[in-house]
Amino acid sequence: MSLVHAADGKSDTIRFAAKSRVIFLIEDSEALGRLLMHRIAQQTDVEVKWFKTYREAQSALNGQRPALAVSRLSLPDAIHGEILELLAGHEVPVILCTATLNRAVRDRFAANIVDYFLLDAQSTLDSIVSTVVRFTQTVAPPVLVVDDSATGRTVLVDLLNRQNYRTFEAASGKEALKLLATHPDIQLVITDYHMADMDGHMLTQEIRTRFAPDRIRVIGISSSSDPFLSASFLKAGASDFVYRPFIAEEVQYRIQSNLQTLEQMRNLRFMAERDPLTGLYNRRAFFEQAYTILDELCGQADGEGTVAILDIDHFKRVNDNYGHDAGDKVIKAVARMLADHCQDGTTTIARFGGEEFVLLFKGLPYKAVQARCEEIRATIAKLAIPYDSSAINLTVSIGAAILQLGEGIDNNLNAADQMLYMAKNGGRNRLVYDAVFCEN
Ligand code: GH3
Ligand code: MG
Ligand code: MG
Repeated sequence: MSLVHAADGKSDTIRFAAKSRVIFLIEDSEALGRLLMHRIAQQTDVEVKWFKTYREAQSALNGQRPALAVSRLSLPDAIHGEILELLAGHEVPVILCTATLNRAVRDRFAANIVDYFLLDAQSTLDSIVSTVVRFTQTVAPPVLVVDDSATGRTVLVDLLNRQNYRTFEAASGKEALKLLATHPDIQLVITDYHMADMDGHMLTQEIRTRFAPDRIRVIGISSSSDPFLSASFLKAGASDFVYRPFIAEEVQYRIQSNLQTLEQMRNLRFMAERDPLTGLYNRRAFFEQAYTILDELCGQADGEGTVAILDIDHFKRVNDNYGHDAGDKVIKAVARMLADHCQDGTTTIARFGGEEFVLLFKGLPYKAVQARCEEIRATIAKLAIPYDSSAINLTVSIGAAILQLGEGIDNNLNAADQMLYMAKNGGRNRLVYDAVFCEN
């Protein structure tokens, strides 16, 4: 069976032709075709061309080689899976949809089948679309394969490349840790057990001391006959385990489901931490980060920082004069402006509520904070935010206070709030910073 890679040795996988942004949908069912067209268009930026028969697909293939085909195995004018032969002849990778699977047909053309789906489950459509999305991504998630045997690595790398994952290879645990340190985008590690310097179990433990399970997933893999190995890998912090020889589909699904879990975790975290209107941190996330930052600064001999509160002046008037939508647009424009001015990693920005933002500057001397706040204030004062046929002008007031590291974040925020109050009372469109009083 050809998808058991160890056995068949097929490594000539056909990779995603990065230049082509066209995929073929070869599907005779009107309803399914429409649904797939719609879903793929929603989730990718590729052009989808839809053909309902073998003959149509054949003549289209003579003029163009698509990056991928999503095809029905049996078509009205070619009921024995001839489409697979045609697509293989044109070196087109295929995601196969079928009501029943003819194993012999599948095995014969396995080298260009990205994945196959039986059209009997509710979740099939989602899986087809997510495979298309991954396959057409220009930057697919990178996976690190760790195995001291080159053949062992090749089998997995081929399988991963066929699925359009980017891959890194390491021949030892040490090499793997080095790659993880230099490539923070690696999300998944597949590691062999038996390796000379550090076995897969130890490597997993090492990975876990450095990266949480919501950052990197680990799949253990081994040809060992020890039935306890899988449990020991899981206890060390792996999220999955596969015994060799494996069936490609199984590994494929485990990889996919681990990466999906990571993505779901990231999405959940994003929703929990972010303000939906601006994408900035929300109040709760700000407090969590502020505690960590204060802690970190406390531990430094020369730790310094500032907390600032920025409030849009007379914002109620924007809502009153232009409507709530315009108000939202203004809030978003201010948020974008703040993010643009604070890209050096020193500043945590949060939307605290309404038209109020908080900025926490870490490790910046007060003069630099003062200059940055002034620049933000002046830039916002110059903004003319287009709305309908008019332009909305606005100003902001900023209150800033040097962080008192012995105090909690609440007291520090209170200090900044008092400065903000002075800025509002002093006529708005200004920065009041307590550091400046200390200087005089
Ligand atoms: P000041 O210069 O003293 O800060 O006056 P202000 O009008 O900006 O302040 P005030 O606190 O009186 O009004 C804030 C307004 O912000 C009231 C509220 O309706 C509005 N607001 C709060 N959240 C949102 C939002 O998400 N979208 C919009 N459009 N308005 C919001
Ligand atoms: Mg205001
Ligand atoms: Mg306010």
